[in-house]
Amino acid sequence: MVERTLLKNMLKLLYSYPFRTITCAAVPWFTKIKSDKTIFSMIMKHLSKGFKNPHRTAWIPFVYPVEILYAMNLLPYMTEIYGNGFSRFPTFFKDAFERALHFGIPADACSFHHASVGIFTQGVMPKPRLVLGGTPTGCEDQYHTLRLLAKNFKTEFYSIDYPRNYEGEKEKLDYFKAELYGLIEFVEKETGFECDKESLKVINQRYRDIYTKYEKFMRLKAEIPTTLYESHFTAFTFTLAEFTGDLDKTERYIEEGMQDIEDHKITYENEKPLRLAWLGHPIIPLRKLQYYLAEKRAFIGYQEFMESCVPPVKTNSDPVEEIAEKYLSAYTNVPLGKRIEIIKKRLSEYKYDGIVYMTSWGCHQINSTAAYILEELKNDYPIVQIDSDCCNPKNVGEQQLKMRLQALIEMIEQ
Ligand code: SF4
Repeated sequence: MVERTLLKNMLKLLYSYPFRTITCAAVPWFTKIKSDKTIFSMIMKHLSKGFKNPHRTAWIPFVYPVEILYAMNLLPYMTEIYGNGFSRFPTFFKDAFERALHFGIPADACSFHHASVGIFTQGVMPKPRLVLGGTPTGCEDQYHTLRLLAKNFKTEFYSIDYPRNYEGEKEKLDYFKAELYGLIEFVEKETGFECDKESLKVINQRYRDIYTKYEKFMRLKAEIPTTLYESHFTAFTFTLAEFTGDLDKTERYIEEGMQDIEDHKITYENEKPLRLAWLGHPIIPLRKLQYYLAEKRAFIGYQEFMESCVPPVKTNSDPVEEIAEKYLSAYTNVPLGKRIEIIKKRLSEYKYDGIVYMTSWGCHQINSTAAYILEELKNDYPIVQIDSDCCNPKNVGEQQLKMRLQALIEMIEQ
């Protein structure tokens, strides 16, 4: 009996947050690529901070005005993204996707929601101080998922509404600005942390500088084929500044990333590499995709998802209005015609040989636009559409994905 209790206590210690902090610190040592090490150490450090300071944590959806939260010294966690990351370790987080169903996530919701609820209800993070919802990307499901998490953890919940189809209309900007001021008021009241406008201005300026550098990074990715590890593909999708709030390290990551691209460049003798654009959902499902493509002398030069966090940013004397404009201009909030314009502009910057459009199971927002976008591009590029699932590996047919990519390459070479 005594041994049993001892064993139980030992197991508890192993699963304790201090132990998880040590595990987080060790993760970056498993890679040799400098920029990958930085990505992992930034993410792990951000997680460890949350383990140690639950009173500063806020769970949020993707594409959220994090600048405001960082200015208030909070630690935001995008539940879908972290949920997706953790769900890649099924040994530790068993049955995450099935588990979400018991918490009320519908079976036909996209797997980002299954991942976030399935993982975050397993105590991966301590109880959050706040849960903040919203309708970024026009996704009502994100609001429901966050609300459900708040209810489950008996945590205060607040949500902001994003007007859609933004084309610079003043009413929409004023509406969203008021939503952001409402968010600030709520967080200040709940936590006692203040949102200082001067700090917010400094943060906005740092983010603007980071986007300028990030654009150069994106161009280098579009120019030079490499087989850099998946995290490099992932870093296409959002800047680490949004994800971790560590602005100094984000800048360092960009510099290291650019150097790594140069150092890992692939050269093909007497042959030109095939440059592909990846539209729709991000490249998550196919592990080691870059090696598979490299065998076919192809690489991904552009991933549309990166636009979600690199909208144009103008300066404004009211830093809250500036943030409102930035998030309304994200490609997921602008009208479809504008989104097509953004894609065409990107595709005109380099010569692209072919296009992949990925739809992800259960996502009505991005899947429903596929047909319109492909119709616009089909006369200029060989295209394949791939139906897959961003998070749940059970819905991903790796062979089928490879066959679709092979079909695209054959079309290009014809
Ligand atoms: S993938 Fe689609 S359904 Fe899922 S969270 Fe994103 S926008 Fe919502």
